[in-house]
Amino acid sequence: MTATAVNVAATHVGTRALGPGLRSVVWVQGCPFTCRGCMSPDWIPDRPARLVSPEALATELLSNDQVTGLTISGGEPMTQATALAETVELARARRDVSVLCFTGHRLERLREHPPHPDVPRLLALVDVLVDGLYVAGHNTGRGLRGSTNQRVHRLSSRSRAEDHDYENGPRSAEIALDGPEALLVGVPPTGLLEAFDTAVTTVRNRIAQADPGRAR
Ligand code: SF4
Repeated sequence: MTATAVNVAATHVGTRALGPGLRSVVWVQGCPFTCRGCMSPDWIPDRPARLVSPEALATELLSNDQVTGLTISGGEPMTQATALAETVELARARRDVSVLCFTGHRLERLREHPPHPDVPRLLALVDVLVDGLYVAGHNTGRGLRGSTNQRVHRLSSRSRAEDHDYENGPRSAEIALDGPEALLVGVPPTGLLEAFDTAVTTVRNRIAQADPGRAR
């Protein structure tokens, strides 16, 4: 299948908070799940956000020539398997980037009953897959997964050779600012999400008071 566009909720070029090395991240819009405590509820609705061609998205994600990996999250990437697979294929034609992908589906389900025809094509491109739904009660504040019920699958020989501790390593997060908008990049350490939301609300209120025309 050939894709027309990726429905993109957000991107970030160049982070060390979402996987080994310097990576670029794409979060897709739309998710069929409704995990309680989801850190990105605005990205659950299946509605048009920023529609980007795979070619343009690959160019954007590789715009920093130090980037060695891509992280795909959401939203639910598997619902956009065709466009994302095409994006990764185009990116890999230019640079041999590693791929880390988060999904709410279990790997067994993806293999036995793929929810989209191009899931096998996307899975074949993924080095590390973090699978399963987020369960707030199993969030230990450690590792590159939201909760310990989620599993880390090293699907490629490249990922099996690396020593990155996805399960229990310390978390880090970065805050990317774009005017009055702020984006939290990473799996947040305990308490950070609440502090981040409070800080964003405070800053927005101050902007609204100082310059009502800029408030959104
Ligand atoms: S699968 Fe991820 S994006 Fe979807 S509701 Fe759960 S935590 Fe949120």
